[in-house]
Amino acid sequence: MRIRFWGTRGSVPTPGPSTVRYGGNTSCTEVRTDDGSLIVIDCGTGARALGQALVTEAEASGVAPRGTILISHTHWDHIHGLPFFAPLFVEGSEWDIYGPRGLAQNLDRVLAGQMEYHYFPVALDEASADTRYHDLVEGTFNVPGAVIVSRYLNHPALTLGYRIEADGAVLVYASDHEPHDVALAGGEPIPDQSADGRHVAFLRGADVVVHDTQYELANYGSKQGWGHSTMEYVVEVASEADVGTLVMSHHDPNRDDAAVDDLLLRAQARARDGLEVVAAAEGTMIEVLARGHARAAAGDASATAEPALETLAPCVVVAIDDPVLDAAVRAAALAEGLTVERPDEHGADLSDAVVVVDADDSRFTGIGAGALSVLGATRRAVPTAIATTVSDWLVLPCSIAHVRTKLRAAVLRRAARWLAAPVGPDEQARLASLHRLAVLDTPPDPSFDRLAELARAATGTPIALVTLVDEGRQWFKAHLGFDATETHRDESFCAHAILTADVMQVPDVLEDGRFADNPISVGPGRIRFYAGAPLTLHDGNRVGTLCVADRRPRVLSDEQVTELKRLADLVVDELEARAGIETSS
Ligand SMILES: [Zn+2]
Ligand SMILES: [Zn+2]
Repeated sequence: MRIRFWGTRGSVPTPGPSTVRYGGNTSCTEVRTDDGSLIVIDCGTGARALGQALVTEAEASGVAPRGTILISHTHWDHIHGLPFFAPLFVEGSEWDIYGPRGLAQNLDRVLAGQMEYHYFPVALDEASADTRYHDLVEGTFNVPGAVIVSRYLNHPALTLGYRIEADGAVLVYASDHEPHDVALAGGEPIPDQSADGRHVAFLRGADVVVHDTQYELANYGSKQGWGHSTMEYVVEVASEADVGTLVMSHHDPNRDDAAVDDLLLRAQARARDGLEVVAAAEGTMIEVLARGHARAAAGDASATAEPALETLAPCVVVAIDDPVLDAAVRAAALAEGLTVERPDEHGADLSDAVVVVDADDSRFTGIGAGALSVLGATRRAVPTAIATTVSDWLVLPCSIAHVRTKLRAAVLRRAARWLAAPVGPDEQARLASLHRLAVLDTPPDPSFDRLAELARAATGTPIALVTLVDEGRQWFKAHLGFDATETHRDESFCAHAILTADVMQVPDVLEDGRFADNPISVGPGRIRFYAGAPLTLHDGNRVGTLCVADRRPRVLSDEQVTELKRLADLVVDELEARAGIETSS
Protein backbone atom coordinates (compact mmCIF):
# COMPACT_ATOMS: atom_id res chain seq x y z
CA MET A 1 0.00 0.00 0.00
CA ARG A 2 1.27 3.49 -0.93
CA ILE A 3 -0.02 6.90 0.05
CA ARG A 4 0.49 10.25 -1.60
CA PHE A 5 -0.41 13.66 -0.22
CA TRP A 6 -2.31 16.13 -2.39
CA GLY A 7 -3.44 18.45 0.42
CA THR A 8 -1.90 18.72 3.89
CA ARG A 9 -3.24 22.04 5.18
CA GLY A 10 -5.93 22.42 7.83
CA SER A 11 -8.88 24.80 7.93
CA VAL A 12 -8.28 26.97 4.83
CA PRO A 13 -6.00 26.88 1.76
CA THR A 14 -2.76 28.84 2.25
CA PRO A 15 -0.98 29.15 -1.09
CA GLY A 16 2.11 31.36 -1.36
CA PRO A 17 5.88 31.39 -1.27
CA SER A 18 6.09 30.56 2.46
CA THR A 19 4.18 27.26 2.13
CA VAL A 20 5.58 25.77 -1.09
CA ARG A 21 7.37 22.84 0.55
CA TYR A 22 4.57 21.47 2.74
CA GLY A 23 1.83 22.82 0.49
CA GLY A 24 -1.17 25.12 0.77
CA ASN A 25 -4.03 22.85 -0.34
CA THR A 26 -6.45 21.44 2.23
CA SER A 27 -6.76 17.74 3.16
CA CYS A 28 -6.58 15.13 0.42
CA THR A 29 -4.66 11.85 0.56
CA GLU A 30 -4.42 9.22 -2.16
CA VAL A 31 -4.05 5.55 -1.18
CA ARG A 32 -3.16 2.81 -3.66
CA THR A 33 -3.23 -0.84 -2.70
CA ASP A 34 -0.94 -3.39 -4.35
CA ASP A 35 -3.76 -4.55 -6.63
CA GLY A 36 -4.11 -0.99 -7.97
CA SER A 37 -7.32 -0.10 -6.09
CA LEU A 38 -7.64 3.61 -5.35
CA ILE A 39 -8.89 5.12 -2.09
CA VAL A 40 -9.10 8.91 -1.75
CA ILE A 41 -9.30 10.18 1.83
CA ASP A 42 -10.94 13.59 2.14
CA CYS A 43 -11.55 16.00 -0.69
CA GLY A 44 -10.13 19.36 0.39
CA THR A 45 -8.75 21.58 -2.37
CA GLY A 46 -5.95 19.06 -2.97
CA ALA A 47 -8.54 16.86 -4.68
CA ARG A 48 -8.54 19.13 -7.73
CA ALA A 49 -4.97 18.28 -8.79
CA LEU A 50 -5.49 14.61 -7.91
CA GLY A 51 -8.61 14.57 -10.09
CA GLN A 52 -6.69 16.03 -13.02
CA ALA A 53 -3.94 13.42 -12.60
CA LEU A 54 -6.56 10.65 -12.59
CA VAL A 55 -8.21 11.97 -15.75
CA THR A 56 -4.83 12.18 -17.52
CA GLU A 57 -4.07 8.62 -16.39
CA ALA A 58 -7.47 7.47 -17.66
CA GLU A 59 -6.98 9.12 -21.04
CA ALA A 60 -3.67 7.30 -21.45
CA SER A 61 -5.02 3.91 -20.40
CA GLY A 62 -8.47 4.19 -21.94
CA VAL A 63 -10.01 3.01 -18.63
CA ALA A 64 -12.39 5.40 -16.87
CA PRO A 65 -11.27 6.33 -13.33
CA ARG A 66 -12.93 4.53 -10.44
CA GLY A 67 -12.36 4.28 -6.74
CA THR A 68 -13.46 4.82 -3.17
CA ILE A 69 -13.71 8.21 -1.47
CA LEU A 70 -13.65 8.36 2.33
CA ILE A 71 -14.85 11.62 3.86
CA SER A 72 -13.81 12.10 7.51
CA HIS A 73 -16.41 14.82 8.05
CA THR A 74 -18.07 17.56 6.08
CA HIS A 75 -16.22 20.68 7.27
CA TRP A 76 -15.17 22.73 4.24
CA ASP A 77 -11.48 21.90 4.37
CA HIS A 78 -12.38 18.21 3.83
CA ILE A 79 -14.96 18.55 1.03
CA HIS A 80 -14.20 21.81 -0.77
CA GLY A 81 -12.34 20.08 -3.60
CA LEU A 82 -15.17 17.66 -4.37
CA PRO A 83 -16.95 19.99 -6.84
CA PHE A 84 -13.58 20.36 -8.65
CA PHE A 85 -12.77 16.64 -8.66
CA ALA A 86 -12.86 16.10 -12.44
CA PRO A 87 -13.44 12.30 -12.43
CA LEU A 88 -16.95 12.92 -11.02
CA PHE A 89 -17.77 14.52 -14.36
CA VAL A 90 -16.33 11.73 -16.54
CA GLU A 91 -18.86 9.43 -18.23
CA GLY A 92 -18.25 5.79 -17.25
CA SER A 93 -16.32 6.76 -14.14
CA GLU A 94 -17.45 5.00 -10.91
CA TRP A 95 -17.17 6.25 -7.33
CA ASP A 96 -18.28 5.00 -3.94
CA ILE A 97 -18.34 7.86 -1.44
CA TYR A 98 -18.35 7.03 2.27
CA GLY A 99 -18.80 9.41 5.19
CA PRO A 100 -20.40 9.73 8.62
CA ARG A 101 -24.17 9.33 8.81
CA GLY A 102 -26.12 12.26 10.23
CA LEU A 103 -29.28 12.09 12.31
CA ALA A 104 -31.56 14.17 10.10
CA GLN A 105 -29.66 14.43 6.80
CA ASN A 106 -27.77 11.82 4.82
CA LEU A 107 -24.24 12.27 3.44
CA ASP A 108 -25.32 12.92 -0.16
CA ARG A 109 -27.62 15.80 0.90
CA VAL A 110 -24.90 17.39 3.04
CA LEU A 111 -22.36 17.17 0.20
CA ALA A 112 -24.90 18.51 -2.28
CA GLY A 113 -25.45 21.48 0.07
CA GLN A 114 -22.14 23.12 -0.84
CA MET A 115 -23.11 22.89 -4.53
CA GLU A 116 -26.49 24.59 -4.18
CA TYR A 117 -27.34 27.40 -6.61
CA HIS A 118 -26.05 30.18 -4.32
CA TYR A 119 -22.63 28.62 -3.88
CA PHE A 120 -21.78 26.77 -7.08
CA PRO A 121 -22.82 26.80 -10.76
CA VAL A 122 -23.21 23.01 -11.15
CA ALA A 123 -25.38 20.78 -8.95
CA LEU A 124 -23.96 17.56 -7.54
CA ASP A 125 -26.56 15.42 -9.30
CA GLU A 126 -25.40 16.81 -12.66
CA ALA A 127 -22.09 14.95 -12.25
CA SER A 128 -22.02 12.28 -14.94
CA ALA A 129 -20.03 9.60 -13.12
CA ASP A 130 -21.84 6.67 -11.56
CA THR A 131 -21.65 7.72 -7.89
CA ARG A 132 -22.96 5.77 -4.89
CA TYR A 133 -23.19 7.24 -1.39
CA HIS A 134 -22.73 5.20 1.78
CA ASP A 135 -23.57 6.54 5.25
CA LEU A 136 -21.31 5.15 7.94
CA VAL A 137 -21.51 4.54 11.66
CA GLU A 138 -18.73 2.91 13.69
CA GLY A 139 -17.90 -0.57 12.48
CA THR A 140 -16.17 -2.40 9.67
CA PHE A 141 -16.69 -2.34 5.92
CA ASN A 142 -15.03 -3.66 2.79
CA VAL A 143 -13.93 -1.68 -0.24
CA PRO A 144 -12.02 -3.06 -3.23
CA GLY A 145 -8.52 -3.90 -2.02
CA ALA A 146 -9.02 -3.14 1.70
CA VAL A 147 -10.90 -3.76 4.94
CA ILE A 148 -11.71 -0.55 6.83
CA VAL A 149 -12.65 0.04 10.46
CA SER A 150 -14.38 3.36 11.26
CA ARG A 151 -14.31 5.06 14.68
CA TYR A 152 -15.69 8.38 15.89
CA LEU A 153 -13.06 11.01 16.66
CA ASN A 154 -13.41 13.98 19.02
CA HIS A 155 -14.37 16.98 16.89
CA PRO A 156 -17.23 19.52 16.94
CA ALA A 157 -18.73 17.81 13.84
CA LEU A 158 -19.36 14.06 13.76
CA THR A 159 -16.04 12.81 12.38
CA LEU A 160 -14.78 9.34 11.53
CA GLY A 161 -11.22 8.09 11.69
CA TYR A 162 -10.36 5.23 9.32
CA ARG A 163 -8.16 2.22 9.99
CA ILE A 164 -7.35 0.81 6.57
CA GLU A 165 -5.84 -2.65 6.30
CA ALA A 166 -4.54 -3.77 2.91
CA ASP A 167 -1.69 -5.94 1.70
CA GLY A 168 -0.99 -6.97 5.32
CA ALA A 169 -0.25 -3.35 6.26
CA VAL A 170 -2.19 -0.90 8.44
CA LEU A 171 -2.78 2.79 7.75
CA VAL A 172 -4.78 4.92 10.19
CA TYR A 173 -6.11 8.31 9.12
CA ALA A 174 -7.23 10.40 12.12
CA SER A 175 -8.15 13.98 11.24
CA ASP A 176 -9.64 16.07 12.82
CA HIS A 177 -9.32 15.03 16.45
CA GLU A 178 -8.78 16.78 19.78
CA PRO A 179 -7.72 15.11 23.03
CA HIS A 180 -10.91 14.15 24.87
CA ASP A 181 -9.21 15.36 28.02
CA VAL A 182 -7.42 18.69 27.50
CA ALA A 183 -5.19 17.85 30.48
CA LEU A 184 -3.40 15.40 28.13
CA ALA A 185 -2.51 18.09 25.58
CA GLY A 186 1.02 18.39 26.92
CA GLY A 187 1.85 14.77 26.10
CA GLU A 188 1.07 13.25 29.51
CA PRO A 189 0.72 9.43 29.72
CA ILE A 190 -2.75 8.33 28.60
CA PRO A 191 -4.97 6.45 31.09
CA ASP A 192 -5.98 3.05 29.64
CA GLN A 193 -9.66 3.16 30.54
CA SER A 194 -10.30 6.66 29.19
CA ALA A 195 -11.72 7.93 25.92
CA ASP A 196 -8.16 8.85 24.91
CA GLY A 197 -7.08 5.30 25.84
CA ARG A 198 -9.59 4.11 23.27
CA HIS A 199 -7.97 6.38 20.71
CA VAL A 200 -4.63 4.69 21.46
CA ALA A 201 -6.33 1.31 20.93
CA PHE A 202 -7.70 2.45 17.56
CA LEU A 203 -4.17 3.34 16.41
CA ARG A 204 -2.52 0.31 18.00
CA GLY A 205 0.16 -1.30 15.83
CA ALA A 206 -0.52 0.83 12.75
CA ASP A 207 2.39 0.92 10.32
CA VAL A 208 1.58 4.51 9.31
CA VAL A 209 -0.69 7.01 11.03
CA VAL A 210 -1.69 10.29 9.37
CA HIS A 211 -2.84 12.50 12.24
CA ASP A 212 -4.00 16.05 12.76
CA THR A 213 -1.25 17.95 14.64
CA GLN A 214 -2.57 21.43 14.01
CA TYR A 215 -1.45 22.86 17.37
CA GLU A 216 1.16 22.45 20.02
CA LEU A 217 0.77 23.04 23.74
CA ALA A 218 2.25 26.55 23.59
CA ASN A 219 -0.53 27.86 21.30
CA TYR A 220 -3.36 25.50 22.31
CA GLY A 221 -4.86 27.47 25.20
CA SER A 222 -7.20 29.75 23.26
CA LYS A 223 -8.04 26.99 20.77
CA GLN A 224 -9.44 24.42 23.18
CA GLY A 225 -12.68 22.98 21.87
CA TRP A 226 -11.86 23.66 18.22
CA GLY A 227 -11.36 19.95 17.67
CA HIS A 228 -7.65 19.64 16.90
CA SER A 229 -4.68 17.91 18.48
CA THR A 230 -1.46 19.18 19.90
CA MET A 231 1.78 17.71 18.58
CA GLU A 232 2.69 16.57 22.13
CA TYR A 233 -0.53 14.57 22.56
CA VAL A 234 -0.24 12.91 19.15
CA VAL A 235 3.40 11.88 19.67
CA GLU A 236 2.40 10.34 23.03
CA VAL A 237 -0.59 8.50 21.53
CA ALA A 238 1.52 7.19 18.62
CA SER A 239 4.34 6.12 20.97
CA GLU A 240 1.95 4.25 23.27
CA ALA A 241 0.19 2.66 20.30
CA ASP A 242 3.45 1.23 18.89
CA VAL A 243 2.97 3.08 15.59
CA GLY A 244 5.68 2.69 12.94
CA THR A 245 5.57 6.09 11.24
CA LEU A 246 3.60 9.12 12.40
CA VAL A 247 2.78 11.61 9.65
CA MET A 248 1.93 15.04 11.05
CA SER A 249 -0.72 16.71 8.93
CA HIS A 250 -3.59 19.23 8.83
CA HIS A 251 -0.90 21.93 9.23
CA ASP A 252 -2.11 25.13 10.83
CA PRO A 253 -2.63 27.92 8.24
CA ASN A 254 -0.48 30.17 10.45
CA ARG A 255 2.51 27.82 10.16
CA ASP A 256 4.87 28.50 7.25
CA ASP A 257 7.38 25.92 6.00
CA ALA A 258 10.04 26.92 8.53
CA ALA A 259 7.53 26.65 11.36
CA VAL A 260 6.48 23.15 10.25
CA ASP A 261 10.19 22.20 10.15
CA ASP A 262 10.58 23.43 13.73
CA LEU A 263 7.47 21.63 14.95
CA LEU A 264 8.69 18.44 13.29
CA LEU A 265 12.08 18.68 15.06
CA ARG A 266 10.37 19.10 18.42
CA ALA A 267 8.09 16.13 17.68
CA GLN A 268 11.03 13.93 16.67
CA ALA A 269 12.82 14.85 19.89
CA ARG A 270 9.81 13.65 21.92
CA ALA A 271 9.19 10.41 20.01
CA ARG A 272 10.06 7.18 21.77
CA ASP A 273 12.52 4.73 20.23
CA GLY A 274 11.07 3.01 17.21
CA LEU A 275 8.65 5.77 16.25
CA GLU A 276 9.55 7.67 13.10
CA VAL A 277 7.94 11.11 12.74
CA VAL A 278 7.59 12.97 9.44
CA ALA A 279 5.47 15.89 8.27
CA ALA A 280 3.07 15.48 5.34
CA ALA A 281 4.20 17.47 2.32
CA GLU A 282 2.14 17.96 -0.82
CA GLY A 283 3.31 15.69 -3.64
CA THR A 284 5.31 13.29 -1.47
CA MET A 285 4.70 9.56 -1.33
CA ILE A 286 5.05 7.07 1.53
CA GLU A 287 5.22 3.31 1.24
CA VAL A 288 3.18 1.66 4.04
CA LEU A 289 5.34 -1.32 4.97
CA ALA A 290 3.70 -4.16 6.90
CA ARG A 291 5.17 -4.94 10.31
CA GLY A 292 2.75 -7.80 10.98
CA HIS A 293 0.06 -5.94 12.92
CA ALA A 294 -2.82 -6.22 10.44
CA ARG A 295 -5.70 -7.77 12.33
CA ALA A 296 -8.80 -7.42 10.19
CA ALA A 297 -10.37 -10.69 9.22
CA ALA A 298 -12.80 -10.71 6.34
CA GLY A 299 -14.69 -7.49 6.95
CA ASP A 300 -18.43 -7.16 7.18
CA ALA A 301 -20.86 -4.37 6.51
CA SER A 302 -21.45 -3.36 10.10
CA ALA A 303 -20.35 0.24 9.46
CA THR A 304 -22.96 0.64 6.73
CA ALA A 305 -25.81 -0.87 8.79
CA GLU A 306 -29.01 1.15 8.56
CA PRO A 307 -29.78 2.30 12.11
CA ALA A 308 -33.34 1.90 13.35
CA LEU A 309 -33.62 5.60 14.21
CA GLU A 310 -37.38 5.88 13.76
CA THR A 311 -38.29 2.93 15.97
CA LEU A 312 -35.74 3.94 18.54
CA ALA A 313 -36.77 7.62 18.97
CA PRO A 314 -34.42 8.06 21.88
CA CYS A 315 -34.94 10.51 24.69
CA VAL A 316 -32.08 12.29 26.47
CA VAL A 317 -32.27 11.98 30.24
CA VAL A 318 -30.12 14.65 31.92
CA ALA A 319 -28.81 13.78 35.39
CA ILE A 320 -26.93 17.03 36.01
CA ASP A 321 -27.36 19.71 38.68
CA ASP A 322 -24.77 22.21 37.45
CA PRO A 323 -27.02 24.80 35.71
CA VAL A 324 -24.48 25.80 33.03
CA LEU A 325 -23.77 22.21 32.02
CA ASP A 326 -27.47 21.32 32.21
CA ALA A 327 -28.36 24.19 29.86
CA ALA A 328 -25.61 23.21 27.39
CA VAL A 329 -26.75 19.59 27.22
CA ARG A 330 -30.40 20.62 26.80
CA ALA A 331 -29.54 23.07 24.01
CA ALA A 332 -27.48 20.42 22.23
CA ALA A 333 -30.21 17.77 22.52
CA LEU A 334 -32.90 20.12 21.23
CA ALA A 335 -30.68 21.15 18.31
CA GLU A 336 -30.40 17.44 17.40
CA GLY A 337 -34.20 17.08 17.58
CA LEU A 338 -34.08 14.87 20.68
CA THR A 339 -36.49 15.18 23.60
CA VAL A 340 -35.06 15.98 27.03
CA GLU A 341 -36.22 14.83 30.47
CA ARG A 342 -34.95 14.73 34.03
CA PRO A 343 -34.60 11.29 35.65
CA ASP A 344 -37.74 11.76 37.80
CA GLU A 345 -39.76 12.79 34.74
CA HIS A 346 -38.65 9.79 32.73
CA GLY A 347 -39.23 6.92 35.15
CA ALA A 348 -37.19 3.84 35.91
CA ASP A 349 -37.10 2.15 32.52
CA LEU A 350 -34.20 3.78 30.66
CA SER A 351 -34.10 1.33 27.76
CA ASP A 352 -35.13 4.07 25.30
CA ALA A 353 -32.85 6.75 26.77
CA VAL A 354 -29.41 8.21 26.30
CA VAL A 355 -28.46 9.26 29.83
CA VAL A 356 -26.08 12.19 30.32
CA VAL A 357 -24.75 12.07 33.86
CA ASP A 358 -22.50 14.44 35.79
CA ALA A 359 -19.86 11.88 36.64
CA ASP A 360 -18.19 14.19 39.16
CA ASP A 361 -21.38 14.47 41.24
CA SER A 362 -21.79 11.60 43.69
CA ARG A 363 -25.55 12.15 43.92
CA PHE A 364 -25.85 10.55 40.47
CA THR A 365 -23.75 7.48 41.24
CA GLY A 366 -25.25 4.36 39.74
CA ILE A 367 -27.73 6.12 37.48
CA GLY A 368 -28.00 4.87 33.92
CA ALA A 369 -28.34 1.12 34.46
CA GLY A 370 -30.26 -0.37 31.54
CA ALA A 371 -30.00 2.78 29.41
CA LEU A 372 -29.34 2.71 25.67
CA SER A 373 -26.07 4.42 26.47
CA VAL A 374 -24.56 6.61 29.16
CA LEU A 375 -22.56 9.74 28.44
CA GLY A 376 -20.47 10.74 31.47
CA ALA A 377 -19.63 14.44 31.79
CA THR A 378 -16.47 15.13 33.77
CA ARG A 379 -14.05 17.96 34.41
CA ARG A 380 -10.96 15.73 34.66
CA ALA A 381 -9.35 12.61 33.18
CA VAL A 382 -10.52 10.37 35.98
CA PRO A 383 -13.95 11.35 37.28
CA THR A 384 -14.36 11.42 41.03
CA ALA A 385 -17.77 9.93 41.65
CA ILE A 386 -18.78 7.66 38.84
CA ALA A 387 -19.89 4.10 39.50
CA THR A 388 -21.92 3.32 36.43
CA THR A 389 -21.24 1.94 32.97
CA VAL A 390 -20.26 4.90 30.84
CA SER A 391 -20.15 4.35 27.08
CA ASP A 392 -18.49 7.65 26.21
CA TRP A 393 -17.07 10.70 27.98
CA LEU A 394 -17.77 14.36 27.62
CA VAL A 395 -14.73 16.08 29.06
CA LEU A 396 -15.45 19.67 30.06
CA PRO A 397 -15.14 22.42 29.10
CA CYS A 398 -16.55 21.81 25.65
CA SER A 399 -18.74 23.62 23.15
CA ILE A 400 -22.42 22.93 22.42
CA ALA A 401 -21.30 21.65 18.99
CA HIS A 402 -19.16 19.09 20.82
CA VAL A 403 -22.07 18.00 23.01
CA ARG A 404 -24.24 17.65 19.89
CA THR A 405 -21.63 15.44 18.26
CA LYS A 406 -21.38 13.23 21.34
CA LEU A 407 -25.17 12.86 21.58
CA ARG A 408 -25.42 12.05 17.90
CA ALA A 409 -22.69 9.43 18.18
CA ALA A 410 -24.40 7.91 21.24
CA VAL A 411 -27.70 7.60 19.38
CA LEU A 412 -26.17 6.26 16.16
CA ARG A 413 -24.01 3.76 18.02
CA ARG A 414 -27.01 2.26 19.77
CA ALA A 415 -29.47 2.71 16.92
CA ALA A 416 -27.56 0.10 14.96
CA ARG A 417 -28.45 -2.32 17.78
CA TRP A 418 -25.15 -4.04 18.05
CA LEU A 419 -22.10 -3.24 20.04
CA ALA A 420 -18.51 -4.29 19.76
CA ALA A 421 -17.39 -5.58 23.15
CA PRO A 422 -15.39 -3.14 25.25
CA VAL A 423 -11.78 -4.10 25.90
CA GLY A 424 -11.17 -5.16 29.49
CA PRO A 425 -8.64 -3.41 31.77
CA ASP A 426 -6.40 -6.52 31.74
CA GLU A 427 -6.17 -6.68 27.94
CA GLN A 428 -2.36 -6.51 27.66
CA ALA A 429 -1.87 -9.31 30.19
CA ARG A 430 -4.66 -11.28 28.57
CA LEU A 431 -3.07 -11.03 25.12
CA ALA A 432 0.33 -11.95 26.53
CA SER A 433 -1.19 -15.12 28.06
CA LEU A 434 -2.96 -15.95 24.82
CA HIS A 435 0.19 -15.55 22.76
CA ARG A 436 2.15 -17.71 25.24
CA LEU A 437 -0.14 -20.57 24.25
CA ALA A 438 1.23 -20.36 20.69
CA VAL A 439 -2.04 -21.79 19.39
CA LEU A 440 -3.20 -19.07 16.98
CA ASP A 441 -3.17 -20.09 13.31
CA THR A 442 -2.16 -23.69 14.09
CA PRO A 443 -3.84 -26.49 12.06
CA PRO A 444 -7.08 -28.18 13.22
CA ASP A 445 -6.58 -30.77 15.91
CA PRO A 446 -8.77 -33.83 16.67
CA SER A 447 -8.57 -33.32 20.47
CA PHE A 448 -10.21 -29.89 20.27
CA ASP A 449 -12.70 -31.06 17.66
CA ARG A 450 -13.65 -33.87 20.07
CA LEU A 451 -14.24 -31.42 22.94
CA ALA A 452 -16.36 -29.23 20.65
CA GLU A 453 -18.31 -32.34 19.61
CA LEU A 454 -18.94 -33.16 23.29
CA ALA A 455 -20.20 -29.60 23.84
CA ARG A 456 -22.56 -29.99 20.91
CA ALA A 457 -23.85 -33.29 22.24
CA ALA A 458 -24.24 -32.03 25.80
CA THR A 459 -26.27 -28.99 24.75
CA GLY A 460 -28.08 -30.39 21.73
CA THR A 461 -26.92 -27.50 19.54
CA PRO A 462 -25.77 -27.72 15.91
CA ILE A 463 -22.78 -25.37 16.37
CA ALA A 464 -19.80 -25.52 18.74
CA LEU A 465 -16.53 -23.62 18.58
CA VAL A 466 -13.29 -23.27 20.48
CA THR A 467 -12.52 -19.57 20.04
CA LEU A 468 -9.48 -17.49 20.94
CA VAL A 469 -10.03 -13.72 21.17
CA ASP A 470 -6.95 -12.05 19.67
CA GLU A 471 -6.28 -8.30 19.51
CA GLY A 472 -8.43 -7.54 16.49
CA ARG A 473 -10.04 -10.87 15.66
CA GLN A 474 -11.42 -14.06 17.08
CA TRP A 475 -9.80 -17.21 15.70
CA PHE A 476 -11.31 -20.69 15.90
CA LYS A 477 -9.23 -23.68 17.01
CA ALA A 478 -12.29 -25.85 16.38
CA HIS A 479 -15.45 -24.93 14.49
CA LEU A 480 -18.25 -27.43 14.07
CA GLY A 481 -21.35 -26.36 12.14
CA PHE A 482 -19.82 -22.94 11.38
CA ASP A 483 -17.76 -22.36 8.24
CA ALA A 484 -15.57 -19.35 9.01
CA THR A 485 -12.18 -19.91 10.64
CA GLU A 486 -12.05 -16.41 12.14
CA THR A 487 -14.09 -13.19 12.32
CA HIS A 488 -13.42 -9.57 13.15
CA ARG A 489 -13.37 -8.91 16.89
CA ASP A 490 -16.05 -6.21 16.50
CA GLU A 491 -18.62 -8.86 15.65
CA SER A 492 -17.41 -11.41 18.16
CA PHE A 493 -19.95 -12.66 20.73
CA CYS A 494 -17.07 -14.33 22.57
CA ALA A 495 -15.34 -10.95 23.08
CA HIS A 496 -18.38 -10.12 25.25
CA ALA A 497 -18.34 -13.54 26.94
CA ILE A 498 -14.74 -13.17 28.14
CA LEU A 499 -15.62 -10.03 30.10
CA THR A 500 -17.09 -12.12 32.94
CA ALA A 501 -16.18 -15.42 34.58
CA ASP A 502 -19.61 -17.01 34.07
CA VAL A 503 -21.23 -18.60 31.06
CA MET A 504 -22.82 -15.88 28.92
CA GLN A 505 -26.14 -16.89 27.39
CA VAL A 506 -28.01 -14.92 24.74
CA PRO A 507 -31.37 -16.72 24.47
CA ASP A 508 -32.48 -14.73 21.39
CA VAL A 509 -29.98 -12.46 19.68
CA LEU A 510 -32.76 -10.46 18.03
CA GLU A 511 -33.99 -9.33 21.43
CA ASP A 512 -30.58 -8.26 22.69
CA GLY A 513 -29.44 -4.74 21.77
CA ARG A 514 -25.81 -5.85 21.83
CA PHE A 515 -26.31 -8.45 19.11
CA ALA A 516 -29.55 -7.86 17.16
CA ASP A 517 -27.90 -6.26 14.13
CA ASN A 518 -24.56 -8.03 14.49
CA PRO A 519 -23.58 -9.38 11.05
CA ILE A 520 -23.50 -12.88 12.55
CA SER A 521 -27.14 -12.42 13.61
CA VAL A 522 -28.40 -10.99 10.33
CA GLY A 523 -25.95 -12.24 7.71
CA PRO A 524 -26.02 -15.55 5.85
CA GLY A 525 -25.76 -18.53 8.22
CA ARG A 526 -27.22 -16.35 10.96
CA ILE A 527 -27.52 -17.60 14.53
CA ARG A 528 -30.31 -16.86 17.04
CA PHE A 529 -28.90 -18.40 20.24
CA TYR A 530 -25.44 -18.23 21.81
CA ALA A 531 -23.84 -19.56 25.01
CA GLY A 532 -20.13 -19.18 25.74
CA ALA A 533 -18.04 -20.49 28.64
CA PRO A 534 -14.84 -18.47 29.04
CA LEU A 535 -11.52 -20.30 28.78
CA THR A 536 -9.93 -19.12 32.02
CA LEU A 537 -6.25 -20.00 32.17
CA HIS A 538 -4.59 -20.88 35.47
CA ASP A 539 -3.08 -17.37 35.56
CA GLY A 540 -6.64 -15.99 35.63
CA ASN A 541 -6.70 -14.59 32.08
CA ARG A 542 -9.71 -15.34 29.89
CA VAL A 543 -8.35 -15.96 26.39
CA GLY A 544 -11.43 -17.23 24.56
CA THR A 545 -14.44 -19.48 24.94
CA LEU A 546 -15.91 -22.86 24.36
CA CYS A 547 -19.21 -21.76 22.87
CA VAL A 548 -22.30 -23.28 21.36
CA ALA A 549 -24.91 -21.70 19.10
CA ASP A 550 -28.18 -22.51 17.44
CA ARG A 551 -30.25 -21.13 14.59
CA ARG A 552 -33.33 -20.84 16.82
CA PRO A 553 -33.89 -19.13 20.21
CA ARG A 554 -33.43 -21.30 23.29
CA VAL A 555 -32.04 -21.48 26.85
CA LEU A 556 -29.61 -24.01 28.33
CA SER A 557 -30.59 -25.94 31.45
CA ASP A 558 -28.47 -25.63 34.60
CA GLU A 559 -27.01 -29.07 33.92
CA GLN A 560 -26.05 -28.09 30.38
CA VAL A 561 -24.37 -24.90 31.65
CA THR A 562 -22.37 -26.93 34.19
CA GLU A 563 -21.31 -29.40 31.51
CA LEU A 564 -20.26 -26.59 29.14
CA LYS A 565 -18.09 -25.12 31.94
CA ARG A 566 -16.53 -28.53 32.66
CA LEU A 567 -15.67 -29.00 28.99
CA ALA A 568 -14.22 -25.47 28.84
CA ASP A 569 -11.89 -26.43 31.71
CA LEU A 570 -10.78 -29.46 29.70
CA VAL A 571 -10.05 -27.21 26.71
CA VAL A 572 -7.89 -25.04 28.99
CA ASP A 573 -5.99 -28.09 30.30
CA GLU A 574 -5.34 -29.22 26.74
CA LEU A 575 -4.17 -25.75 25.62
CA GLU A 576 -1.83 -25.32 28.58
CA ALA A 577 -0.45 -28.86 28.32
CA ARG A 578 0.45 -28.30 24.65
CA ALA A 579 2.17 -25.03 25.47
CA GLY A 580 4.14 -26.81 28.20
CA ILE A 581 2.65 -24.56 30.87
CA GLU A 582 2.95 -26.18 34.31
CA THR A 583 -0.16 -25.80 36.43
CA SER A 584 -0.49 -26.71 40.08
CA SER A 585 -4.04 -28.03 39.86
ZN1 LIG B 1 -10.16 20.07 9.14
ZN1 LIG C 1 -13.08 19.84 10.97
